[in-house]
Amino acid sequence: MGREKSHEIFARSQQLMPGGVNSPARAFGAVGGEPVVMQRGEGAYLFDVDGNRYIDYIGSWGPMILGHTHPKVTHAIESAVKRGTSFGAPTEAENTLAELIINAVPSIEKLRLVNSGTEATMSAIRLARGYTGRDVIVKFAGNYHGHVDSLLVAAGSAAATLGVPNSPGVTAGTTKDTLVLAYNDVTGVETAFENYGAQIAGVILEPIVGNMGTVIPSPEFLTSLRKLTSQHNALLIFDEVMTGFRVAFGGAQSLNGITPDLTTLGKIVGGGMPIGAYGGKAEIMNHVMPAGQVFQAGTLSGNPIATAAGIATLQTLRDENPYPRLEQLSARLAEGLGDAANSAGVPHTVTRVGSMLTLFFNESPVDNWQVAAKCDTARFGKYFWGLMDRGVYMPCSQYEALFVSAAHTEADIDETIDAAKAALAIS
Ligand SMILES: *Cc1c(COP(=O)(O)O)cnc(C)c1O
Repeated sequence: MGREKSHEIFARSQQLMPGGVNSPARAFGAVGGEPVVMQRGEGAYLFDVDGNRYIDYIGSWGPMILGHTHPKVTHAIESAVKRGTSFGAPTEAENTLAELIINAVPSIEKLRLVNSGTEATMSAIRLARGYTGRDVIVKFAGNYHGHVDSLLVAAGSAAATLGVPNSPGVTAGTTKDTLVLAYNDVTGVETAFENYGAQIAGVILEPIVGNMGTVIPSPEFLTSLRKLTSQHNALLIFDEVMTGFRVAFGGAQSLNGITPDLTTLGKIVGGGMPIGAYGGKAEIMNHVMPAGQVFQAGTLSGNPIATAAGIATLQTLRDENPYPRLEQLSARLAEGLGDAANSAGVPHTVTRVGSMLTLFFNESPVDNWQVAAKCDTARFGKYFWGLMDRGVYMPCSQYEALFVSAAHTEADIDETIDAAKAALAIS
């Protein structure tokens, strides 16, 4: 597969941008080699600048659940552009998107639109602190909540400790009120509430993790979080930036039956345009300015183009209900990848919820970061490039979930499984 043009363009990118990219996940750092420069997307496929076609399982890291250039989404964006790109004033479309989200996500009564998932989680924890008058936020190792300073601790790496920053530039002062615990560790959470209960403003978590690969919470873990936060008057915050409208139309909370106090959204909610949202009980959301005192603002928040793309995406998901088909295609893929690893004699575990899945090169079930960290990432790198060379574009890290979209067909899935068989046989 020729990638000469990609190589030339990326050489220039490296002179212009740090590492040649505008977000580190794209840089192929974990698998070696250079990223491929993309030219266009169509349905389940991406085409690079050298004309190679790839079956895409990244889906822009989550948003593209309908596939690329979906006609309804494209049309909505085109129509919105003609009416103007930003007004900095209320529009009716913001109500439409808010209503779609509120009707879909059980715990959200009121919400605020922002411009990214990072902004959503940053604002949600500010609100939790402002609302409770407390400082401490509990997060879990291996959960990623965007590049918010105080949450950039054990964010998909590093061990569970009390607030040790893992990016230079994030000060110890900023993270001293962040308590990092192990995912799925009920005793750890109980102990934290025993010791710090009166200081804890909120607990934030991915209610199904995607950012250390796909990891599923135990029902006891979720139940204990709900119980302990309620007992101690702390807020439970579900970061559904990835899982919202992905694992089900109502997000992870509609599957696990736990009602958080606040929920953060992004990715699918913007249909491929930059967006984020946070919402929850009206009584809590009414503390956000100008209804309340907790400051949060945005020049482009509720942007007409992003809002139009989000509305078209959510309406299509609601009306066409692709979730049963996504379930079927994803189950087929999970089984096929597991079989491919079995026939190659490769120790592995496959974890899947709906159209989010990870083939871990680890024979133990992965339920927290400590276990995830033991995956054979060298083998993952070979597997990744074996797939690339066969026209399959998977996340370039063992610690990311892959996504199936409504545009994938059974033929795409079967072609992917064949590619995985070949890639695993030689790696
Ligand atoms: C992607 C992601 C974020 C960050 O969203 P951005 O739009 O990249 O800022 C936050 N939380 C979770 C769970 C995510 O998957």
